[in-house]
Amino acid sequence: MRSAFARADAKPMSRSRFPCRNSSRRSRPILATPEDGKGMMTARILVVDDIPANVKLLEARLLAEYFEVLTAEDGLKALAICASAQVDLILLDIMMPGMDGFEVCERLKSDPRTAHIPVVMVTALDQPADRVRGLKAGADDFLTKPVNDLQLISRVKSLLRLKTLSDELHMRNETARNFGIDDLLRAGDGRAEEAGQVLLVDGRANSQERIIRTLKPIAQVVAMSDPQAALFEAAERPFELVIVNSNFDDYDPLRLCSQLRSLERTRFLPVLLVTEQGADDMIIRALDLGVNDYVIRPIDPNELVARCLTQIRRKRYNDRLRASVQHTIELAVTDALTGLNNRRYLDNHLKILFDRSLARARPLSVLIADIDRFKLVNDTYGHDAGDEVLKEFASRIRSTVRGADLACRYGGEEFVVVMPDTPADVAAGVAERLRAAVENMPVRLRDSGVALNITASFGISCRLETVETPEQLMKQADRALYEAKRAGRNRVVASAA
Ligand code: GH3
Ligand code: MG
Ligand code: MG
Repeated sequence: MRSAFARADAKPMSRSRFPCRNSSRRSRPILATPEDGKGMMTARILVVDDIPANVKLLEARLLAEYFEVLTAEDGLKALAICASAQVDLILLDIMMPGMDGFEVCERLKSDPRTAHIPVVMVTALDQPADRVRGLKAGADDFLTKPVNDLQLISRVKSLLRLKTLSDELHMRNETARNFGIDDLLRAGDGRAEEAGQVLLVDGRANSQERIIRTLKPIAQVVAMSDPQAALFEAAERPFELVIVNSNFDDYDPLRLCSQLRSLERTRFLPVLLVTEQGADDMIIRALDLGVNDYVIRPIDPNELVARCLTQIRRKRYNDRLRASVQHTIELAVTDALTGLNNRRYLDNHLKILFDRSLARARPLSVLIADIDRFKLVNDTYGHDAGDEVLKEFASRIRSTVRGADLACRYGGEEFVVVMPDTPADVAAGVAERLRAAVENMPVRLRDSGVALNITASFGISCRLETVETPEQLMKQADRALYEAKRAGRNRVVASAA
């Protein structure tokens, strides 16, 4: 394989397109990388090394791949650049006068503003202990000198892909700033100590044993030699990493990699490929398929441990982000007081249910409930008592309707239940049951123990040929509710239309 350090004749770059931010650069290309095809912005990479020749070589390799490159010759400059400019990835030398790479990395990772920037440490080949130290300092990956071209570019791209995903998840979380995403991510740090769950797919027993032994300090490894059975296992159990060893006699390991990427349940499961020296074509195809990382036989135990740890850590981080995005979405569609869906959700979902009932020629009923003289509760017992009544009302709705029904707090003391596949008479029955449940069981206030007699009025409408829109359906139910109020409250009225 070629080495960046053995190759100073990198492709000449167009350097006239944009003015430069870093004084050592005359210009920088900010074209999208041609092969990413996903419109990803050009990533900006900071190269930190005290030896100018090393900086030049890495820079030339990265520029040839259309990355934008900033450079720094010592740790303090690197920190200053990270603090002032948007940096997407850092290639960091370890041995530097003054502040060494470990300290730079520790400082970057302990500052919330820079902690998310992936750091690749560039270590000397004869210092395997450096890699472990680098990981302890928070490095995301490492490369050994002399830096191999394929490794450099593939590791950089793989980390940038992950960062793009994390950035995107972060951005979605911005909408719920108060949610405390940082706490969430920190909470996960405790899990760094927890053993990783690794699935090893390996055709040979002795190689299985060796890898299991190597990973023992950091992971629980399940080893399998049948790739198709392994795919099934990967989909069924909560693994955090799959290691695929390309040592099968009559099986293409990339088939498994590709299947792991396409199955819904394993899509986010990191895959690490073990290949042999000289298998560049396989590595390139593997990375194209979305394999996250690779190691080359004979396996360096330190390297395997470090790479597995990195993948497991990234997976946990992204899982937490994904869960938090999910939670954010739930918050956005849920009424905080009652836990029912909110009006925003109803407005969106009613349309879907309406269209579906139209397309399938099935009935669809809407019930609107409004608590009678609710203002009086607030005025007499206070707002908190009012809130208790609302919660209790919501919980009676919840226990009365079916799972397929959509129950929402529409606002104030109004609630809506949308009932798919439900004709008007059945909906009226549901409303009557709910009405009786409310009337027959007073709400006992938590603090005072006072029992409040509550009643509510109900309006019902059902989708018929004449109801053309969800809005009309709602309006008819609302009109029926008004009728129920006018007729004396504590009753159910079905829309006549
Ligand atoms: P009606 O029988 O005609 O429906 O009389 P009502 O008093 O229930 O109706 P009105 O619309 O006049 O009053 C609704 C009250 O609901 C007024 C408002 O302060 C109260 N309310 C709205 N949202 C909340 C809430 O989240 N908590 C509490 N405690 N009260 C609320
Ligand atoms: Mg009311
Ligand atoms: Mg009202």
